Amino acid sequence: MVSFNYPPYIETAFDYMKQAVDSHKICGDGDFTKRCNRWMEERFGAQKVLLTTSGTTALDMSALLCGIKPGDEVILPSYTFSSTATSFVLAGATLVFVDIRPDTMNIDEKKIEEAITDRTRAIAVVHYAGMACDMDAVMDIAQRHGLFVVEDAAQGVMSTYKGRALGTIGDFGCYSFHETKNYSMGEGGAIVINRPEFNERAEILREKGTNRSKFFRGQVDKYTWVDFGDSCLPSDLNAAYLWAQLEVADEINKDRLRTWNAYYEAFKPLADAGRIDIPTIPEGCTHNAHMFYIKCRDLEERTRFIAHLREYGITSVFHYIPLHSAPAGLKFGRFHGEDVYTTKESERLARLPMYYGLSESDCEYVIEKVLGFFNGVAE
Ligand SMILES: *Cc1c(COP(=O)(O)O)cnc(C)c1O
Repeated sequence: MVSFNYPPYIETAFDYMKQAVDSHKICGDGDFTKRCNRWMEERFGAQKVLLTTSGTTALDMSALLCGIKPGDEVILPSYTFSSTATSFVLAGATLVFVDIRPDTMNIDEKKIEEAITDRTRAIAVVHYAGMACDMDAVMDIAQRHGLFVVEDAAQGVMSTYKGRALGTIGDFGCYSFHETKNYSMGEGGAIVINRPEFNERAEILREKGTNRSKFFRGQVDKYTWVDFGDSCLPSDLNAAYLWAQLEVADEINKDRLRTWNAYYEAFKPLADAGRIDIPTIPEGCTHNAHMFYIKCRDLEERTRFIAHLREYGITSVFHYIPLHSAPAGLKFGRFHGEDVYTTKESERLARLPMYYGLSESDCEYVIEKVLGFFNGVAE
């Protein structure tokens, strides 16, 4: 049996959670939350990072900070998780989906500009599988048209683009610490604020519309309701669980990369022979081994492939149903241009087991069964 995912867990987590309990401070913005925020700011070179209750919440906050209003348009890929889209819908946006590139499954930066109208307000990019989008091209388009850029870096924690951490390049970056991500607090996330003029508004949004963060820093002598907001602070118990992982973030990253590289080496001959496709690492980027996928010939072959692995106790999963063809996508958005790759590539993709602590023997077992399928070995 090889599971698809195990949530990361580091031994020291219980100790830290107990410390939070003993300090009688388990609500938001306690000691562990601050440690996590500071760690990310230093490690990623970000001017401000705030833990949130989820990656989705971080996206919600970003959409509001961009000042999205009903009737505004947001450009995004259709091949993504629902959160990227629904956060902007919540703010009132109309979604404009554009096609992806087949090599990274990321938004095709060459198709963004033609989708811009005088209602376009923001571009939301997704760093799929922790592989960076072409951010130079995206930022250039955004600057020329005066648009916000939100990076959905839910899968991209610890990945870089030309030496810069994903999430720190656009106006706002969003991380997820869901249990399926590289670093986890059960449910949780973080917003990276790359423009200091939004720091205060972000704190207010996150703190139920109050200036409580300022109050705790002694910058105002009483706190009050100053604007609309929401409750986006996670419990310090969850932050304590996450803190244990951030302390050994490099070790977790290295462990995942070991599995990823073993898959890559093993399947490269099949890819070179044109039998399957495997992930492409964009030039100048490092990745965090968030995901290893292979692309089968078509939907029919993928269905047989997943069934084949299941027979051997290996869980392989696929995603996403392209958003533009989903019921809510039809309601809230439109696809600009032709869907050349989004649907076709999404139907070919299957993800292999990948988690911190996946043993070498399990990894070899998966490799053997994958190769068995494609080399037609009947076992
Ligand atoms: C996981 C994920 C999210 C949502 O994160 P949550 O923490 O589960 O809310 C958003 N976008 C992408 C691309 C994701 O993979």
